Amino acid sequence: MLNPGFFAPADLNQACSLLADEAIQPLAIAGGTDLMVRFNRHRRRRQETLVYLGKLGLDYIREENGKVLVGACAPLNEIAASPLIIEKLPLLAKACGEMASPAVRNAATLGGNVVNNARHADGVAALTALNAAVVIASTGGERTMAMNAFTGAPKKEKLSGGGIIKHFAITSLGPDETWAWEKLRQRKGESRSVVSVSMRAGMQGGKCTAMRLVIGCMAPNPFVSKAAAELMVGYEPGTALNKKVALKVLEECTPASDARASAWYREKVTAVLIERVLSQLN
Ligand SMILES: Cc1cc2nc3c(=O)[nH]c(=O)nc-3n(C[C@H](O)[C@H](O)[C@H](O)COP(=O)(O)OP(=O)(O)OC[C@H]3O[C@@H](n4cnc5c(N)ncnc54)[C@H](O)[C@@H]3O)c2cc1C
Repeated sequence: MLNPGFFAPADLNQACSLLADEAIQPLAIAGGTDLMVRFNRHRRRRQETLVYLGKLGLDYIREENGKVLVGACAPLNEIAASPLIIEKLPLLAKACGEMASPAVRNAATLGGNVVNNARHADGVAALTALNAAVVIASTGGERTMAMNAFTGAPKKEKLSGGGIIKHFAITSLGPDETWAWEKLRQRKGESRSVVSVSMRAGMQGGKCTAMRLVIGCMAPNPFVSKAAAELMVGYEPGTALNKKVALKVLEECTPASDARASAWYREKVTAVLIERVLSQLN
């Protein structure tokens, strides 16, 4: 059995074994920008055992077999500035570059954002729009889950056996594909999303051939709009159609009120952001 303390393994299998210790229930820590806030807020008295993931070499950003692999421990600033991400997955570069402040982005990781999975988590929304796959290492071996399935699954199941997200595997944007990322926040710096709308879409001969429109902050997890795909695919985007789609997408949402915005305001700005995103198809 482990003693409470701080471990910084350099080997992934060892890290998974440490995290799988059911008696101590250690916690993984990457940038600590969510975890340490939680510790301070709850003034934890229990001495935690922390397993630091920063020495596992999971900060790579590279291309492999037509997919871009983004290591779970890659800091948000490095993802936003990566020439590969800017070229192949500009939606992700923009989303990461608009999270928090430069200081927080230097420490915060994409893996931490996804595991924390807060309602406002921009990384979750962007990766859902990009239809990313989540690659998880554990004592039971390696497995891959679709982003939607990962966010919907209980933490105990998806990260069982000392599970650690290794990386996200994402298909690069094709020549006929287009994208958009719009985030509304209360102020420019260090401000979480009131709502986000992101899109990965296909266009050919002026018509929409594929549509993945994702609304963030409306539900506990970002959701892919069915209405947007049904109404857009096969048609030419235009002001009237875009407005119709925005109204239909709102029927799929149940906006909530919180400290950042009322449900009424969320609904109004979501319609505006949807139209703004769809106008980028023209
Ligand atoms: C001032 C401020 C502003 C912020 N603004 C935004 C914002 O605009 N948008 C936004 O989306 N977020 C924002 N955040 C939240 C935060 O920065 C992100 O969620 C961050 O990406 C978390 O990453 P981390 O490496 O710091 O995670 P940590 O705090 O280290 O960990 C978070 C959770 O993930 C687990 N974990 C971490 N990495 C892994 C892994 N690879 N495998 C398994 N489990 C793992 C940890 O055990 C923990 O439960 C903000 C935070 C602060 C403090």
